[in-house]
Amino acid sequence: MKRFKEKKGTKNEEEESKNTTTTTTFERCSDEPSGSEKEENMIDPIEVIRKSLEAYEKLTCDKKSDPREWTVLSTICRVDSKGNVDVVALATGTKAIGKGKLRDDGCLLRDTHAEVLARRAFRCYLVNRLREYMLSPMKANDAFRSGTGDRFTGRAIPRGDVRYAMYVSQAPCGDACIVPSGSSLVGESWCLHTGARPVAGDGKLDGLNQECRTGILRTKPGRGDRTRSISCSDKLLRWSVLGLQGALLSTMMNPVYISAIVLPSHAVNESAVKRALVSRVFDFSTRKDCQDYNLKSPEICIVSSKEYRFEKSPFSIRRDDRVSCDKSFIWSRDVGSEVILAKSGLRAGTTKKDGRAKIIPLKCRSFHCSSSHFHRFAEILSSDVRNQNNIKVRECLKLLKSSTYRSFKDSAVEYQNMKRKFRKKVFPAWEVRATPSFRINEKG
Ligand SMILES: [Zn+2]
Repeated sequence: MKRFKEKKGTKNEEEESKNTTTTTTFERCSDEPSGSEKEENMIDPIEVIRKSLEAYEKLTCDKKSDPREWTVLSTICRVDSKGNVDVVALATGTKAIGKGKLRDDGCLLRDTHAEVLARRAFRCYLVNRLREYMLSPMKANDAFRSGTGDRFTGRAIPRGDVRYAMYVSQAPCGDACIVPSGSSLVGESWCLHTGARPVAGDGKLDGLNQECRTGILRTKPGRGDRTRSISCSDKLLRWSVLGLQGALLSTMMNPVYISAIVLPSHAVNESAVKRALVSRVFDFSTRKDCQDYNLKSPEICIVSSKEYRFEKSPFSIRRDDRVSCDKSFIWSRDVGSEVILAKSGLRAGTTKKDGRAKIIPLKCRSFHCSSSHFHRFAEILSSDVRNQNNIKVRECLKLLKSSTYRSFKDSAVEYQNMKRKFRKKVFPAWEVRATPSFRINEKG
């Protein structure tokens, strides 16, 4: 049974959101079936938003903020075979650290945009499920199949009957925010609603208006010291090829992808979002030597429900009187929430002295920074009790003792090959940045 009726946006809705052209909307049907009758494995976008807003409301960290501020909310939800939605990662944020403040020790969160932090919190969820799998491999858990893993590589296999949906309270920054400037100009010109700047050196830019050019690689928007962090539109596109788990976890598990991205109609332009997050990689194909990695573009779900809106985030076009919030919240189902100061990329409460210290104290580092993630990963690796015959685990443990964060990430050969291929074909201007090279015993 189809769970949603599909309809065109009403005139009022179109007037209210003038950047919307042909939005396909979802509205809850009054005669729809109860939870037990849900169509198998179908993602209900309204339920994703409802649960996401509910999870935000339940956050126990200090959410006080100035009413003149705005922010973006993003979540990642687990959707089981019956369509039940469970929020497992959540974050807010709109900022990124300028290149002048970067460090090479993996202790800062450089990019505190909501989508990027939600993905970090989701990675924490995966690490904990991997730990469960390592301890009881013959028992299926929320994320992984039971058994000895991939028969060629020994890596844990994500459950095929579980899918993941991402909710974002407005269009991801960068390409997805470049929308038609108005009905009279549609097809001739584009108007930019993002400050995301093109990355220098993109060959497609020559002689063209860079601001309104679609399809090119951009960094995060923002004034002042320019950031090196890539826009969320471009990162989401990369995740549709490489998955959400990142290089480190890819040594122990097969990739896991976003099946659907849920967005509110008042804050997005559907054609711009589909172009930015799906169409740009239509011609990207994978070779046989990368069997576990494939282009898996998410379904884009635009929801028109007025009942479920993230009120702190009205689309910025009409809210120029507001400034973006300088705090980020991150919540993961396993470790709870924390507040991050966007200016420093460290936990709220960090003093200037601690922020400038040669070794950043543990209490100031986010639970989700690269350094913490690496340590957590090392811990679960040592807890693998599957058996000593598991070549992959033995190799990883051996490597871990002698390696840096950088060299361990580089050891994920299949992942790195696909990453290189993606860069070469889709974003040749994407600078290959040196990964921080800290070691596992540098706890500070
Ligand atoms: Zn962003």
